[in-house]
Amino acid sequence: MHFEVTILGSNGAIPAHNRYPTSQFLNYNGQGFLLDCGEGTQLQMSKYNIKRGKLDHIFITHIHGDHFFGLMGILTSFNLNYREHPLHIYGYVGIEEIVRTYFKHAQTVLRYELIFHTVTDDRSRLVFENSAISVESIILKHRIPTTGFLFREKSGPRKILPEKLDQYQIPVQEISKIKMGADFVTADGMSIPNSELTHDPSPPRSYAFCTDTSYTETILDQIRGVDVLYHEATFLHEHRERAAETGHSTTREAATIALKANVGKLIVGHFSARYEDLSELLSECKDVFPDTELAIEGHLFSI
Ligand SMILES: [Zn+2]
Ligand SMILES: [Zn+2]
Repeated sequence: MHFEVTILGSNGAIPAHNRYPTSQFLNYNGQGFLLDCGEGTQLQMSKYNIKRGKLDHIFITHIHGDHFFGLMGILTSFNLNYREHPLHIYGYVGIEEIVRTYFKHAQTVLRYELIFHTVTDDRSRLVFENSAISVESIILKHRIPTTGFLFREKSGPRKILPEKLDQYQIPVQEISKIKMGADFVTADGMSIPNSELTHDPSPPRSYAFCTDTSYTETILDQIRGVDVLYHEATFLHEHRERAAETGHSTTREAATIALKANVGKLIVGHFSARYEDLSELLSECKDVFPDTELAIEGHLFSI
């Protein structure tokens, strides 16, 4: 099962140094989810060979332009490419108003249905679910209402041991029941316990996307133990006052959240345009949480 994230944009408010504003494409076994949609997102998708047609769900963390200025472009391209199947957009109530107002004044009637799912910042809640994964909102601490998103894989079925299929002549129609935990009864009435036929499924994986935010420990319980955490680190530690004023985090703050939440890996991004060279940002993070990587355009992270 593929569960991977491609970085499309890694910068903060201003595009600079060949870095684009925030956007990531999450591929879960062929199903596409876009996390934020900064300016240039669809161009970045083309550059990294991500097919727009695979995309049915767009998550917008908040209504600052560096997180949604690419949305109108991608929605328009879908229309020009004769998209017919619905597109789901998750975000604050204002995003629906902005999008619908634009298409009203452009006198454009879309060929496909836009379905908005409103998130709020009173508490985190389940915003998407299918048979394989769920997505919860994460309440962040920024200048305007902002939510991150937590993708959790559901526990998969048990794995059947192939040699047992032959040994006990297990019919095809019994396999799905055994994968769900059932024992098997042979033709001559012998009961074979499930534990002899199967082994545990792989542990479910998880990815937390947290941008933009000041340092806040209120998210720790929710993200504890995730395999990969993306957390913004807009500023170096020496610019911590600027971080506090603007509702952002420093390197050390992002890494401290990763450490306290005991996550597997930290990816940092949303870099201030003031830094052309990111090596100092990375080393400051690694001082606190060694397994840190930079969000770099085109980089694919397997969860
Ligand atoms: Zn931002
Ligand atoms: Zn912001």
